Amino acid sequence: MGKLALYGGTPVRTKSFPSRPGLGRTERHAVKTVLGTGVLSGFLAETGDGFLGGPRVRALEDAWCERFNVPYAVSMNSATSALYAALIACRVGPGDEVIVTPWSMSASASCVLMAGATPVFADIEPDMYGLDPKSVEKLVTKKTKAIVLVHLFGNPARLVEIERICADHGLKLIEDASQAPGAIYHNNYVGTRGHVGVFSLNYHKTIQAGEGGVAVTNIDSVAERLRLVRNHGEAVVSGSRKRLLGDSPHSDIVGGNFRLGEIPAAIAEAQLVRLDKLTAPRRTNALRISDTLAEMAPFYTVPVRRLNCSSAYYLYDVRIKESLPGMAHMALRAEGIPVQRYVRPLYYLPVFGEQIQEIREAHPEVERAYREVVVHPLVHAGMTEEDVGDVIAAFRKVYEHRREL
Ligand SMILES: *Cc1c(COP(=O)(O)O)cnc(C)c1O
Repeated sequence: MGKLALYGGTPVRTKSFPSRPGLGRTERHAVKTVLGTGVLSGFLAETGDGFLGGPRVRALEDAWCERFNVPYAVSMNSATSALYAALIACRVGPGDEVIVTPWSMSASASCVLMAGATPVFADIEPDMYGLDPKSVEKLVTKKTKAIVLVHLFGNPARLVEIERICADHGLKLIEDASQAPGAIYHNNYVGTRGHVGVFSLNYHKTIQAGEGGVAVTNIDSVAERLRLVRNHGEAVVSGSRKRLLGDSPHSDIVGGNFRLGEIPAAIAEAQLVRLDKLTAPRRTNALRISDTLAEMAPFYTVPVRRLNCSSAYYLYDVRIKESLPGMAHMALRAEGIPVQRYVRPLYYLPVFGEQIQEIREAHPEVERAYREVVVHPLVHAGMTEEDVGDVIAAFRKVYEHRREL
């Protein structure tokens, strides 16, 4: 193989990679139909049917229940809103602690601040980057009320172990499955086992509606609270709550406007139908890359496949063991592969400032993952066999030249 592009050689890939599949005829038709009705939001902030949203919003929620085999789905205007609503629905508030991961999109932890509670950062597993149950267990105090478990990059986290901790200590489990629609954990869809599971419909996610989110739950009273948080809560229903809520007390809910519009709901419904078609190629492409890169261990460590689990491969992650951190990352980028480190650990963000004292000793795996792991999106359904071949070739080239880095 020729010289590394980093040192002036010819890059493996010079043209850009294809983008993810765009929206199709079904989505366009769905949008036109909504425009034809003129009803862009069916929500009314008053008791009665309109409290639960318009026809597209309800159709999306029904389809979501059917697809993920859950009794309740509550759409929102983002996963961030849904995470916040999930905490409020689980009665988390000031004085409570919530155990979260420091290595995720910021909303996985800032939702706790939004709810007025205190995020407590646990360490992560070295191989799949979900919360490490041993670290979580050590952080449980009398104040702990909930755990937010992120299925990072689409990989199912250690649900059984975390569920056991929740059961032992009476904690609520909120699954952040924003990156993992369609990922499977022991015959269940990820996101459907906790008290609340949250999915994102943001433009960058596997299925998208521009912006949007869905919270799912198996618990009737939690679903009710989610709907209240979404639509101005008590302010609206207090007078005639019996009609909407029966006898359950909800006097602690300050609701907002987290409602999803009819157009994004219609798009999301069409996108949901495509979920398998968009996820299957991700698995095929990721496994093909993994099979080859696994031969180059321990320089590359490929995503672990856990027994009876299946990742949705939102991003493809590789751990690189190199003597000069960052050199292989640069070499890969020079070969035309847009690899990136994942986000800075959240305890470095000023907004989480109070947590900063604990960092380095307490989160060695987060620090190591942040240093060594790169991610790229080049497993999506728009990638051809040849495109994936180029990704593999670039990784192989950097491997073969690893001593020059
Ligand atoms: C994208 C993402 C979110 C936030 O989703 P939005 O719909 O953009 O609010 C939350 N958690 C994780 C893990 C995400 O990847």
